[in-house]
Amino acid sequence: MSSIPASASSLAGALLRQEVLDLHAYHVPDSGGYIKLDAMENPYPIPQALREEISATVANAAINRYPDPNPAVLKEKIRSMLGLPQGMEVLLGNGSDELIQLLAMALNKPGATLLSVEPSFVMYRMIAIFTGMRYVGVPLLTNSGTANSGLANSGAADFSLDMPATLAAIEREQPALVFLAYPNNPTGNLFSALDVKQIIEASPGLVVVDEAYYAFASDSFIPHLARYPNLLVMRTFSKLGMAGLRLGFLAGSTAWLGQLEKLRLPYNVGVLTQLVAGKLLDHHEVLLQQAEQIKQDRTRLHRQLSEIPALRVYPSEANFLLFRVAKATEVFSGLKQRGVLIKNLDGGHPMLKDCLRVTVGTPEENQKFIAALQESIIQSA
Ligand code: PMP
Repeated sequence: MSSIPASASSLAGALLRQEVLDLHAYHVPDSGGYIKLDAMENPYPIPQALREEISATVANAAINRYPDPNPAVLKEKIRSMLGLPQGMEVLLGNGSDELIQLLAMALNKPGATLLSVEPSFVMYRMIAIFTGMRYVGVPLLTNSGTANSGLANSGAADFSLDMPATLAAIEREQPALVFLAYPNNPTGNLFSALDVKQIIEASPGLVVVDEAYYAFASDSFIPHLARYPNLLVMRTFSKLGMAGLRLGFLAGSTAWLGQLEKLRLPYNVGVLTQLVAGKLLDHHEVLLQQAEQIKQDRTRLHRQLSEIPALRVYPSEANFLLFRVAKATEVFSGLKQRGVLIKNLDGGHPMLKDCLRVTVGTPEENQKFIAALQESIIQSA
């Protein structure tokens, strides 16, 4: 029997697609016991009164039954929240990750290309690869690595779209699918709306503006949906306080969504998610207030980070901040030793050398993070 693991692994090696064998799984570190500032979650619990309402709803849930395969009530709540006009629909996903995969499967004609920018959300590339699409990543602009060592606050152009390069890549590659995160993860900045419009206009394929961080941003492409036949907007409720529910959606014309709907697995949004998200959306203002608090705390945290010498913090319209600091991996370990978990981006994309990303937590968590960061920087010097 002892030979089973070895033969299973050689069988898997022989049978699996090479793209799958070459992939590295999306790594989620163990966060037990840490102040958890690594995953862009909303740090605030749901208010007690609302929890009780949710408990009552959940207590009566028919979990012995399959969920409503087409949750019309939940979809209507989302539609009205967005103010979608006639002819526009929403398509629900088990998180927006699932929708990225669904889009890739739908548009993956032989040789089709998925184009995004880099650095951006890693799942665009991963999903392109494991669905067998060609992937093209156009580098964003950066000032780092210039004469001033990249640590000074040297310019506003950092991580903005490189328009000549992006338009040339679109012309050359004719991508079937373009993803732009607006604001971008992990950099936090909001691309110029004019640039994004130019990309939509120049694209022969479908452009998805991924507004995962919409609750913390100053702009949206939802109002432009009617103008561009090749535009869909994707959002998630994960960052707004529902990461555990797994609910995202695509918004756009019924001509697109009616077709994409065919690929959605039946029952992809469970009973409990439908019920709880529905309840929470009835009280959307509670979550938006929490987002407002997070935005204020982001401003304070940004200022505190910008006051630390030899650290460069980037502008953010999301619920996290990207910063660059010498010996980032050592600083990251120092933070962990002090009980604070953030995201280490050093060693990933070359443009993110010495970069760390911190999610905005509660004011107390942010203060503990700043104190631990200062100690870790001194320790690593
Ligand atoms: N898009 C972007 C830009 C993200 O940062 C994330 C989460 N990190 C997602 C999509 C996926 O979110 P979810 O699957 O939780 O809806």
